[in-house]
Amino acid sequence: MKLSEIINNEKLSLSFEVFPPKTDTAFESVKHATEEIAKLSPSFVSVTYGAGGGTSKYTLDIAKNINEQYGVPTLAHLTCVSSSKETVQKKIKEIKAAGIENIMALRGDLTPELENSDRSKWAYRNAIDLIRDIKDSGEDFCIGGACYPEIHPESENQREDIKHLKEKVDSGCSFLTTQMFFDNNLLYNFLYKIREAGITVPVIPGIMPITNANQVERAIKLSGSFMPQRFKSLVDKFGHSPEAMKQAGIAYATDQIIDLFANGITNVHVYSMNKPDVAEKIQSNLSEIIKV
Ligand code: FAD
Repeated sequence: MKLSEIINNEKLSLSFEVFPPKTDTAFESVKHATEEIAKLSPSFVSVTYGAGGGTSKYTLDIAKNINEQYGVPTLAHLTCVSSSKETVQKKIKEIKAAGIENIMALRGDLTPELENSDRSKWAYRNAIDLIRDIKDSGEDFCIGGACYPEIHPESENQREDIKHLKEKVDSGCSFLTTQMFFDNNLLYNFLYKIREAGITVPVIPGIMPITNANQVERAIKLSGSFMPQRFKSLVDKFGHSPEAMKQAGIAYATDQIIDLFANGITNVHVYSMNKPDVAEKIQSNLSEIIKV
């Protein structure tokens, strides 16, 4: 099923993100975790392409399994910056053959090696190039793109970032998913600005439940997200106790999601990081809210 059929719906829903295993030996345990997440019947599950520590090799196996065994629509992530045109065309065909109708089209992060290489030789410079190739492939996909309420770290300013985002959407994105954020006002300001710039597609906010103190530093480094004082206090107070931190992190994420739903957002994407217990707890915290 195409995600455009789900996310344009007025019904409140949650979707979850999982990542593929890092090693072959971890495949079965990751597959099991993703199946437990699929059993929660989210609106869809996205499977990253190498991000979050996993390899890209198993993205399709995990996405196909969730789709076929649990009837949950899946979104396969695909990055392009370190790939050749041939590799990407092959991947697009494989995604189609696996029965997956949705692609999250991403550039991918720049490794130091890439940063120091000759950009004129890159087959893909930005996600927009990948989106155009998916469109030109003749295969019919629902395509999503990434967006950054706090600006992409490489952008000089938000105006430039939104200008490129508009071009990206116009090249064929049906929806956008945001980078994680911990202050909903940043999202509301961003939405105002992109709507003003003429970007009209649905925006799915991405919420990361921080369930252990070590994750905080990593999350900020990866995303450059602003940490509100309210969140810092919580980490200061409960960070030393894994169980207390987990409960507080889930409560914080739940609170963010309730506020988003209350302010007109209909689908929230939870970066559930292969943790079925965290996904389950957030979903049960929202069990009545989601029926509204
Ligand atoms: P782009 O849209 O290409 O933007 C990157 C930068 O280039 C921005 O500063 C933008 O303003 C600028 N830009 C865009 N278009 C142009 C243009 N035409 N000319 C000049 N400048 C331009 N990484 C993974 O490796 N695997 C994943 O599975 C993964 N999933 C993600 C999911 C989400 C929801 C998000 C938010 C990020 C994800 N990432 C993933 C990380 C992502 O690959 C990085 O954030 C990457 O640095 C940018 O990817 P992008 O697709 O947003 O790039």
